[in-house]
Amino acid sequence: NDLASLLDVSVNEIISVCMSLGMFVSINQRLDAEAITIIADEFGYEVEFTKADEEEEVEEVEDSPEDLGDRAPIVTIMGHVDHGKTSLLDYIRSSKVTSGEAGGITQHIGAYDVRTDNGDKIAFLDTPGHEAFTAMRARGAKITDVAIIVIAADDSIMPQTKEAINHAQVAGVPMIFAINKIDKPNANPNKIKEELANMNLLVEDWGGKYQSQEISAKTGQGVDELLEKVLLEAEILELKANPDRKAMGTVVEASLDKGRGYVSTVMIQNGTLKIGDIMLAGQHYGRVKAMFDHLGQKVQEAEPSTPVQVLGLSGAPQAGDILKVYDTEREAREIANSREQINREQSMRTKKHITLDEIGRRLAIGSFKELNIIIKGDVDGSVEALSDSLLKLSKDEVSVNIIHKGVGQISESDVLLASASDAIILGFQVRPSSSAKRLAEQEEIEIRHYSIIYDAINQIKDAIEGMLEPEF
Ligand code: GDP
Repeated sequence: NDLASLLDVSVNEIISVCMSLGMFVSINQRLDAEAITIIADEFGYEVEFTKADEEEEVEEVEDSPEDLGDRAPIVTIMGHVDHGKTSLLDYIRSSKVTSGEAGGITQHIGAYDVRTDNGDKIAFLDTPGHEAFTAMRARGAKITDVAIIVIAADDSIMPQTKEAINHAQVAGVPMIFAINKIDKPNANPNKIKEELANMNLLVEDWGGKYQSQEISAKTGQGVDELLEKVLLEAEILELKANPDRKAMGTVVEASLDKGRGYVSTVMIQNGTLKIGDIMLAGQHYGRVKAMFDHLGQKVQEAEPSTPVQVLGLSGAPQAGDILKVYDTEREAREIANSREQINREQSMRTKKHITLDEIGRRLAIGSFKELNIIIKGDVDGSVEALSDSLLKLSKDEVSVNIIHKGVGQISESDVLLASASDAIILGFQVRPSSSAKRLAEQEEIEIRHYSIIYDAINQIKDAIEGMLEPEF
């Protein structure tokens, strides 16, 4: 409706242009910038977006180099269940609390920071596992600088190890392998390195590029060396932040506390968060009333790469939401309100993720360049066969990427990965778990089931050639 009056045409004309582009819209629907540009072009107009249209989020003030200081790395620990993620997080937390902080009692707030014996700071996300990591990434949060992949030396590379590696690689986050449980008599770290090598992940002491460290999360052996390697990796990344600007961070977790109201743990990524600042996260805003560190001690400010519990938001944001500080409450409130409205509209809108039917529409508006696919199957042979054939469908205009493949049921983690990378999931003779199915519905991830490889290939082929008949 708004666009129609701006272009001085009737609403019906806009709707029919949209339909010709494969978009079925209603009169009150909010259109994205790209759609507006294309529609306006149909009527001979060129669109220029003003600052107000783009919402504050786009306005990211560049820090000038002289304002930037080093910031500590933020680390996520991932790996297969029972390989020792929690033990490692607990060992690091309990052994690296500096004396100045003593007296506080460890609180599990979703993140903590420590100082190594050399005084270097490292922040850890205390939600081990790639599900949390990828759920955040699905919300657009980029928070992890380095991933530690824990692998038990008395076991093997397991499915979740592979998934963790996969998720880190897709996110472009450097990995360090922590080969754990070397205190055990049956530990065989060389076997793990060999298995890694078989996956094309050659560790440094075998002449490769991946750092690895043998550790025991139980006795603490090798943990200092592991932290040194994290710092080395961080040095290469040249992590910088400007502590003198308004704070920006990512929500790690949030809850409603009986006595204190909404409590959110935020990993500060740039700037410094101070008491009294006006903050906005997701659809919620408010003044910073109080802040606590992971030892439950009150703090007045939080610098980059510091996790803090923040009190004062009007509600509980979601993990992965960005928290930002604004000059005025009015500004924060307006953005909060408009986000609420957009969320409401979006939840009523069409699919937010790719589906085979959607490919045709995206091809029509020229926004389709690559199709990400996750393949799960009952046997390795068919997964490989399917993946090889699908890769061959890549053309100049559209490339087909197999971002993950494996044997077994379609899991929640597959759905999260699909959500984070806008992928569709193909199940060959396998079904999703009930939780994965629920999540897929919620995240609007398309899962297609096949029992004949040829059918799968043909459908994908038709889709990327823009020839797929919609299913009714
Ligand atoms: P997570 O599922 O990856 O978080 O694994 P946990 O940290 O819960 O560890 C699983 C089990 O392995 C627990 O019983 C731990 O006590 C044990 N464990 C973890 N690390 C070590 C280690 O370095 N040495 C030995 N012997 N046991 C360990």
